[in-house]
Amino acid sequence: MKKKIFFIIINKKRIILTLVLFVVLITVLIGVRAQMKKNTRVWNYHEVIVKKLEGKSDREVQGKVAIIIDDFGNAGDGTKEMVAIQSVLTCAVIPFLPYTNEDAVLAHNRGHEVIIHIPMEPHFGNPKWLGEKGITTNLSTEQVKSIIREAIEKVPYAVGVNNHMGSKATEDRRIITAIVEVLKENDMYIVDSKTSMTSVIREIAEEYEVPVLERAVFLDNEKNIDAIKKQLELLGEIALKDGYAVGIGHVGPEGGVVTAKAIEEMIPVFEKKAIKIVPVSELIKEVF
Ligand SMILES: [Zn+2]
Repeated sequence: MKKKIFFIIINKKRIILTLVLFVVLITVLIGVRAQMKKNTRVWNYHEVIVKKLEGKSDREVQGKVAIIIDDFGNAGDGTKEMVAIQSVLTCAVIPFLPYTNEDAVLAHNRGHEVIIHIPMEPHFGNPKWLGEKGITTNLSTEQVKSIIREAIEKVPYAVGVNNHMGSKATEDRRIITAIVEVLKENDMYIVDSKTSMTSVIREIAEEYEVPVLERAVFLDNEKNIDAIKKQLELLGEIALKDGYAVGIGHVGPEGGVVTAKAIEEMIPVFEKKAIKIVPVSELIKEVF
């Protein structure tokens, strides 16, 4: 009788032990899953950069702005004035133009970052605006890849890309996947100029673990110095709130000398507010 009770107690202990082990195992599994979910979120650049900047030891800097200047490659209006700016801009050069190489070298020699400004098909507008070798949705995947590879050769010093127009092409998963695959091969980042609200650039870049950022503010939609300065102010406000912000301005008829002057005049304002102008790659680096 005593023996039997003893065994029952032992069995009870075993059952409790098994239950405890089971609960521990489930808890560990849930933890691992949560961690895995967390890891896949690393490529959500916006959140990661905001977090990184929050924990920065460099308390002097309250926010970082990257200013991309589009449409280099034409030796267009304001090219000289823009590259003379004493902050590091990110100069987006259109490939396959007469001054592509010259403008890229000029921007690099003046200490700016260079990226490729890829002409991409818009929903509306003249396809001629794309110029030579624009990315249109009727191209085959191989054709897209070969144009991007050629563009990388045409634009010296390029470390990333953004899109010129592209409201239609940036919504096309096949086209964006082809571009992102070539960027992955070449260790380059992509900035979505956000000409379409339903662009798939960010989603596909994150999938391929290609660094991706999105434009927050267009600087010179209205070509007027006060309007551009207001847009720059807005860019600064977003950077103070989020830690960083990406703005896009232009050389050529859309902005040119006026945009360069507005940036020049806003530099001391940014300095006062402890907002630092950095190249896009510096924002990207914050992640690693
Ligand atoms: Zn453009």
